[in-house]
Amino acid sequence: MRVLIDEATVHEGVASMANEIRETYVDTPLTIIGVLTGSVVVLADLIRKLDMPLRVGVLQTSSYDGTQRGKLKINVDLMLDIRNRHVLIVDDIFDTGHTMHEVIELLGEFEPASVRSAVLLVKTGKKEVAMDPDFAAFDIPDEFVVGYGLDYNDAYRHLPFVGVLEPDDLAEDRKWPD
Ligand code: 5GP
Ligand code: MG
Repeated sequence: MRVLIDEATVHEGVASMANEIRETYVDTPLTIIGVLTGSVVVLADLIRKLDMPLRVGVLQTSSYDGTQRGKLKINVDLMLDIRNRHVLIVDDIFDTGHTMHEVIELLGEFEPASVRSAVLLVKTGKKEVAMDPDFAAFDIPDEFVVGYGLDYNDAYRHLPFVGVLEPDDLAEDRKWPD
């Protein structure tokens, strides 16, 4: 494992993203929807840095099998009512952007007042959609990262930093519990 963004730097990035969000909405009540499971850590840290009227909900997407993309599934059953609300979607990473693009499209059907997006990480040069996230803490190179919510076969999400898996890590089966 190689550390890409250490714990202190991650926190600085989340804090400055929180400031930008606060400056954008001022005191307009906001509904944050975290995209499970990868957003759990950034969601928990970000909301505690937002001193403003806030509701928090989640939806779930899954698209990865190991490090390979699979078919995207979105489960909105966990979502709170967002009609006429200003919505901010929070996810761990914007890679091709398909996940964020599809989530925004889907949430549009619930007739929110507005929808924006915030991500911890943006992978450089991978975008395949005609949008960028409205808020992003870090741009990173095109490497498979784990930690701070991001997983490899559901492991490593609890690491307090963002790291890059090295060939040895990928070779071993890290699926837990074993
Ligand atoms: P996109 O749809 O933008 O290509 O991918 C977004 C989703 O894929 C993220 O929410 C995340 O779950 C997963 N993903 C993309 N890149 C990485 C990565 O480098 N590491 C991990 N662990 N997940 C990734
Ligand atoms: Mg995800």
